[in-house]
Amino acid sequence: MTNRTFKAGESRDQATLLPPRIEDYVGPDNPVRAIESFVCAIDLAKLGFRHADRGMEVGQPPYDPADLLKLYLYGYINQVRSSRRLEREACRNLELIWLLKNLRPGYRTIANFRKENWEALKATNRYFVLVARTLGLVGGNVVAIDGSFFHGDASKDSIFTRNRLAGQIAKLDQEIEAYGKSLEDNDAAEASKPDKDRLDGPGGEAGKDIGAKVTALMAKRSRAQGDLARLEANGETQLSLTDPDARLLVKSGQGVAGYNVQTAVDDKHKLIIASEVVNDSSDVGQLHAMAKVAKDALEAEVLQVLADEGYYSSLELKACEDDGIVAYVPVPEGNGQLEKQGRFSLKDFSYDATADAYRCPAGELLRPTKKPFTNTSGRVEIRYLSRKTICDACPLRARCLAPKGVQRLIGRWEHEDVLERHRARMQSADAGGLMRRRSAIVEHPFGTIKCRAGYRHFLVRGFNKVRGEWSLMALCYNFTRVLNILGFDRFVACMMAKMLLAFEHALVAALHCTQLVLGAFRTEIASLGSRLRTFPVG
Ligand code: SF4
Repeated sequence: MTNRTFKAGESRDQATLLPPRIEDYVGPDNPVRAIESFVCAIDLAKLGFRHADRGMEVGQPPYDPADLLKLYLYGYINQVRSSRRLEREACRNLELIWLLKNLRPGYRTIANFRKENWEALKATNRYFVLVARTLGLVGGNVVAIDGSFFHGDASKDSIFTRNRLAGQIAKLDQEIEAYGKSLEDNDAAEASKPDKDRLDGPGGEAGKDIGAKVTALMAKRSRAQGDLARLEANGETQLSLTDPDARLLVKSGQGVAGYNVQTAVDDKHKLIIASEVVNDSSDVGQLHAMAKVAKDALEAEVLQVLADEGYYSSLELKACEDDGIVAYVPVPEGNGQLEKQGRFSLKDFSYDATADAYRCPAGELLRPTKKPFTNTSGRVEIRYLSRKTICDACPLRARCLAPKGVQRLIGRWEHEDVLERHRARMQSADAGGLMRRRSAIVEHPFGTIKCRAGYRHFLVRGFNKVRGEWSLMALCYNFTRVLNILGFDRFVACMMAKMLLAFEHALVAALHCTQLVLGAFRTEIASLGSRLRTFPVG
């Protein structure tokens, strides 16, 4: 039993002999010290941060980019992203007061840092992957690629497609016509009144109101017409008024006004190795670009890449193979139109490489035509044709040819061997296991970033700034993951070692410079001495 009803805090008026130091605000193993150690270990000038290589100059000095980077890393790790909230936190959050040594940048400074340093933020993200590699946290053999939609700083209503603009123009035309008609009716009604009852001007006050509305509608129509003409002139399909680079993205019936974020994730610790922000709904066309960036980041000779069916593209698979990337992408089933009609599909024909011919289910050969054919997707194909006389007498004819068809035609891509190797790979024993691992690898970062951190939308507009913000999100995901894997002590020790190494290099470079300067000085003194000796005395 105690003599207190509740726990009581300290009196606000209690004076202390020695006030706490800023250093006492955070414990020795507070994760905020990990942020400090990382930022101190990197060369901000090399990464391209603005003002990082600034010397002593006149006027008010700017904030050190290291401090603003620490502020952003702390904020994004702790779900504080807006510049105004970061400004408030820098004044009241003891961890931030410790991290920034009581500096209190304004929200404009904070916001401008994110806008102006988007390239440097991307470079920092890439650099952290390099750090993770040197620490042995990256497997470097298998990566999984996937994309996810993030909302942009734009509403769906602010994005117009050509169809939507055409529909808007048609609707405005109807409204203008309706107002025009009511204006005419109004005029006619006024004209039929006796002179003494008529109002001034055509249609009186009501007519003036309608006239103003028609003018406003005409202006709106001309804006919509101008937007449509602009879209048609530059070949774009959508026009975004708020964020010029955001697009209406649709997948599985769900629409988002924003961006498609592509990531390549290493299978060892699910770290994001490479990422890119695009504004296309489709993932087709992203496989090779993402795999190549990941391969370069990992400096791997050969890389296995796992992706879902949405990435299947023969041209992309060919580009991957050419670059030493072994892609595992499920082959789409297709719509099975021929099977539904009870007819033979491509699967029923086998290719004989020695004879350069396809063998049909009746055992006959389809020979190549002389002229190659370029299809709508730009693929050059060789066409293989059966012989009409043989097909005429074939008992399988009804299951093979279209009702009005006379011979069977099969198109073979000039690099079909790439697809055959890919099909064989997808049927191999290890493909099943790899594809099961794919979703577990690549969906971990998106799940963490979207569900745990709650980052489903971007706060900035335009590709460059959005890419900078995504780099911050990816960097914070990787940072937290590496910190959890290594533990606080090992992480800080690694960063300290990096910092000491950089310091050592700087010291060696400085000593080298000093030696060069001393050498030049010595030569100068020697030549001066010899000149003095030859100087006539008296
Ligand atoms: S119709 Fe012609 S191509 Fe088809 S199975 Fe018969 S012979 Fe072969």
